[in-house]
Amino acid sequence: MGRLDSKVAIVTGGARGLGAAAVKALAQDGCAVLVCDVLDEAGKATVDALAAEGYRVQYQSLDVRDAGQWAQAVDAALGAWGRLDILVNNAGINNPIDIEAATAEQFQAILDVNVIGTFLGIKAVLPAMRNSPSGSIINVASNSTAMVLPATSIYGASKAAVANLSKSTAVHCALKGDNIRVNSVHPGAHETEMLANPQVQAMPQVKALIDAVPMGRMGRPEEFGKLVAFLASDDASYITASEHFIDGGLTSVSFADPSRQAR
Ligand code: NAD
Repeated sequence: MGRLDSKVAIVTGGARGLGAAAVKALAQDGCAVLVCDVLDEAGKATVDALAAEGYRVQYQSLDVRDAGQWAQAVDAALGAWGRLDILVNNAGINNPIDIEAATAEQFQAILDVNVIGTFLGIKAVLPAMRNSPSGSIINVASNSTAMVLPATSIYGASKAAVANLSKSTAVHCALKGDNIRVNSVHPGAHETEMLANPQVQAMPQVKALIDAVPMGRMGRPEEFGKLVAFLASDDASYITASEHFIDGGLTSVSFADPSRQAR
């Protein structure tokens, strides 16, 4: 018996990467998952692979910037499984550009997906989630809320907004007496498609970042998935308005310790 057996989740940006890992971890715990993305082909392939393993998953096309599409996604989850307990606001974009080079249009484009998309998702699910015995909203931020690089200037600002929005939503729900917890997850560099390649990991900038991680490696998507599944579950019943860093300790150091043994 899985700890999420009776529960239903929506995961945005679930077609690939960390979102797909979250989908799998939730499904492995027994959850039914509506996988949402703008990459319809990849999203359907992710769902087909998991359905072939016997998991309860469906695909729904969703651009998180569109309130109307959010309403359709909530209807799809309720139509398929009759309830909604979990939202993982994972869809996100980055544009590695420094503050002087960035334009207002580039900043706005990032805010539209990362912040407004998260906001629209929260608003769309709350009415249905109030009928759940224990709702959980997990917003994916980044460890760039706590450590900055020139290339994360506008992305980091958007993720700091996501973290703050998570806390205010958590307090809003708790004070209203809703049984809905809201938390943010802050990943460091993870081995998604782009970074899994050993040649990419050997590039000087990427290597320097990995070398600075006290644990000496990047995160694995399944490790991120397990954190999401824990926060979604009743095992996390007293955890709300919290930031959860998953970055091998990187945000706690400002230098790579030369005494660390090579691994
Ligand atoms: P990714 O690019 O592989 O996946 C992001 C997904 O979001 C894609 O499937 C994409 O199609 C989807 N998406 C983009 N815009 C969308 C929109 N408007 N509507 C719906 N879906 C949309 O990236 P990832 O590495 O898996 O990142 C997932 C989340 O984790 C993001 O929020 C990212 O900012 C965050 N994050 C990732 C890392 C990392 O190392 N991978 C580190 C810190 C934070």
